[in-house]
Amino acid sequence: MHCPFCGTYETKVTDSRLVADGDQVRRRRQCLSCGERFTTYETAELIMPRVIKGDGSREPFDEAKLRAGMLRALEKRPVSVESIEAAVERIRQRLRARGEREVEAIAIGEEVMQALKRLDQVAYIRFASVYRRFQDLDEFRAEIDRLAQEPSFAPGDDHENDP
Ligand SMILES: [Zn+2]
Repeated sequence: MHCPFCGTYETKVTDSRLVADGDQVRRRRQCLSCGERFTTYETAELIMPRVIKGDGSREPFDEAKLRAGMLRALEKRPVSVESIEAAVERIRQRLRARGEREVEAIAIGEEVMQALKRLDQVAYIRFASVYRRFQDLDEFRAEIDRLAQEPSFAPGDDHENDP
């Protein structure tokens, strides 16, 4: 590891600890030549599959885009940033767990829908209505009726009754 101050190779680690819930190693180093101290962070490189778009073209997985889509659906909804970040991380893990080098964009959309369904019913409907492009109002209504029958959306545990 080069010293960022004098460029010499000889640095020693003076302290090493896990940070970011164990996802990162933080190391304090000291240069043996000039004596300056600095910090390095190590993170495992987790490779995300590439995304196969509807037209067959490929693009890199874009976490910012994924998050933006979810935030749009969750606009003004009572869902914490922590819950959203946890959902994004869960989606990343699930996509990696497929063990595929490439994943269809549509599969990512389905993951997002499942995540939103757990987070917030309204956000889910917003996302699904754009994503699945419900053909008509009947189809949309049928989906809402179907949702209403799922135990996780039983009345009383949601924010729908808020003024
Ligand atoms: Zn140095």
